[in-house]
Amino acid sequence: MRPYILAENHWRSVEETPYEVAILPWGATEAHNFHLPYGTDIIEAQEVAAEAARIAWEGGAKVTVLPCIPFGVNTGQFDVKLDINMNPSTQLAILRDIVEVLDRQGIYKLIILNSHGGNDFRTMIRELGLKFPNMFLCSCNWYQSVDQKLFFENKDDHAGEMETSVIMHLTPHLVRPLSEAGDGAAKKFRITAIREGWAWAERKWLQVTKDTGVGDPRKASAEKGAKFFKAVTEKVAQFFTEVAKADRKDLYDFY
Ligand SMILES: [Zn+2]
Repeated sequence: MRPYILAENHWRSVEETPYEVAILPWGATEAHNFHLPYGTDIIEAQEVAAEAARIAWEGGAKVTVLPCIPFGVNTGQFDVKLDINMNPSTQLAILRDIVEVLDRQGIYKLIILNSHGGNDFRTMIRELGLKFPNMFLCSCNWYQSVDQKLFFENKDDHAGEMETSVIMHLTPHLVRPLSEAGDGAAKKFRITAIREGWAWAERKWLQVTKDTGVGDPRKASAEKGAKFFKAVTEKVAQFFTEVAKADRKDLYDFY
């Protein structure tokens, strides 16, 4: 039983623990090239949250990891079989209900630990922040917490070298042989501003990639995944700890 994982605990110990921060891992259920499982983003969110919470807890931060929300925004993958889309408006409704519980019970800090590029909680945090002024709401994309270039040769957007390495490290029994993986080659927008990144439009996934991957997975290894996972969880743990210790009424300073 891990005291920082809510689903593994019991009422008496939960009642007695003065939690400072709730952590909500949020994944997606979607195809990941031919070699990674549909639950890749769920596994990543849960494992990163659990390991970072362990480190933070052992350092004295009272954090609790809530069960992972398994569905993400997959509006662009509507034609990929059993990619389960959860609309942003549904996500907002779920988030509102969770925030309402935390607010009522005096757990005034929530971190959404996001695993999926199609999820974006920032506008929801703005809207809920106005409705629940006592709450400190924040989100983080764990995959952006450390520079992937220091660990991997090929850039990963979806099911590429980074994700493949991480899943090879965490759940190797769920990874098909790399010889079965597609190369993750992906088209980019012909429109210059979107390609440069300062304008944005959603990609229709199957018009961009043949194997659903975006990023070449073939140089992935469990060793690379282990090193990256360690660096990520240490960094994320530091974030959890800082949020736990932060004074909600005194969050800013000059730097
Ligand atoms: Zn993924």
